Amino acid sequence: MKLTVLGTSGPFPRPGSACSGYLLESDQTRILLDCGSGVVSRLLQIADVSTLDAVILTHLHFDHCSDIGVLRYAAEASAVRPSIRLLSPGIPGSVLEPFLSGTDVFRHETVSDGTEAMIGDLRLRFSRAVHPVEAYCVRIDSADRSFFYTGDTAVFDGLDGLMRGADLILADSCFSDAQAEAKRGIHMSPGQIALLREKAGVPKVILSHHFGGCRKDAGMPPAPDGCVYAEDMSVYEF
Ligand SMILES: [Zn+2]
Ligand SMILES: [Zn+2]
Repeated sequence: MKLTVLGTSGPFPRPGSACSGYLLESDQTRILLDCGSGVVSRLLQIADVSTLDAVILTHLHFDHCSDIGVLRYAAEASAVRPSIRLLSPGIPGSVLEPFLSGTDVFRHETVSDGTEAMIGDLRLRFSRAVHPVEAYCVRIDSADRSFFYTGDTAVFDGLDGLMRGADLILADSCFSDAQAEAKRGIHMSPGQIALLREKAGVPKVILSHHFGGCRKDAGMPPAPDGCVYAEDMSVYEF
């Protein structure tokens, strides 16, 4: 599988960057994971919208879904009119309503804890995350590779078990260790993720969703062993 990091910012894009958006590809399948501010511009640098099999929105915070509206316009303008599966939580429904009404380019499916879906040759399984709105982690397995995306979440019991066996993890590292301790139930920190990686026995974690300012300015520590800070437009093959 191949993962392209389209944006690393959250909850708003720092100058020249984009919010959460990641293109996951297997030999047969293309999935866009989250579609925050600035993601469609980045996506169009490397892929035609009509080639997307699905879009997954882990939750409906704007830094993960606000470019769905312009993705719709790009799909409607495509020479080959697509019919893209769009999987998301159902709540808050008012967020997606204007993006979905009056168009046939998306086929919307609501997910819940334990939802499984086949998209092309990839099997997806959603697990409820811990975040201020309904949010999901998603595990994506091919015949011989496994990927896990935390979406936005705080650490919760069993998260290491969900990660176990993954070849690559993409994790929300929005907070510093001190922030994660002070503001529980929202995001994880690099230190927390390093512990999860050890417990799960996972070889590599990409740390993303860097807080609004540049992560270097924000004083983030060096990436822990086995972890790397995501860079915009970086590619990981695994
Ligand atoms: Zn976010
Ligand atoms: Zn969020």
